[in-house]
Amino acid sequence: MYTERFDKRNFNELRPMEAETGIVPNAKGSARFRIGNTEAVAAVYGPEEVKPRHIEKADRAVILCKYDMLPFSVPDRAKPGMDRRDIEISQVITNALNRAIILEEMPRAMINIRVYITQADAGTRCASLTAASMACADAGLPMRDLVAAVAAGKIGDSVCLDLTKEEEDFHEGEGATDVPIAFLPSKNEIVLLQLDGRVSKEDLKKIVEIGKEGAMKIYELEKKALKRRFSNESKS
Ligand code: UDP
Repeated sequence: MYTERFDKRNFNELRPMEAETGIVPNAKGSARFRIGNTEAVAAVYGPEEVKPRHIEKADRAVILCKYDMLPFSVPDRAKPGMDRRDIEISQVITNALNRAIILEEMPRAMINIRVYITQADAGTRCASLTAASMACADAGLPMRDLVAAVAAGKIGDSVCLDLTKEEEDFHEGEGATDVPIAFLPSKNEIVLLQLDGRVSKEDLKKIVEIGKEGAMKIYELEKKALKRRFSNESKS
């Protein structure tokens, strides 16, 4: 049984969040997104010449995305270099952004995206996607929508929003199921859905619903951060 959350949050409550854009002066666009003790910093370069040349597409841009957990982001120092998990997360971020960015408007170009995790307490792929999509908007790339992403899941008998690492590691009874989800909110489109654990069809529906409600709050915060940035820019 998991009747009260370790950090006393309601089951449908997100951790405290912060979002800001334009934080890396030498990138075309950048953003930072923090949710609880998980923080992602994203920087976007391009549209630029495609390298290596053989991945160039005549009718659209290609996205090259790298996710990296900094060594000091977790209690047991993360190993430098890309492991299988980093490659998988880079790929799922790319897949989601392929739906968000209007690549056809930038043929023969490359969009280079770097995401660094400065602190990790679960939900880093979702925080990365949220930060990366804000950075793309900050770079002025043509987009169908921002991506708003959050993990939801089930711990014991309770459907939960925005799991911490301590919750992901819950081992009593049925244990924990973690479902990272990303939306294009204004299109009502899911661009990432993964599942780690076991869950019934009915519970998966509840998890997606609670995830969607959380993502809408993240979406509002993203839009606020971008508005703040562009209104400051127009003043200077
Ligand atoms: N983690 C860690 N060391 C690692 C990889 C992951 O401590 O080398 C922790 C980190 O807190 C991460 C969590 O495990 O956020 C869950 O990782 P998972 O692969 O499920 O992806 P995430 O939830 O971060 O998207």
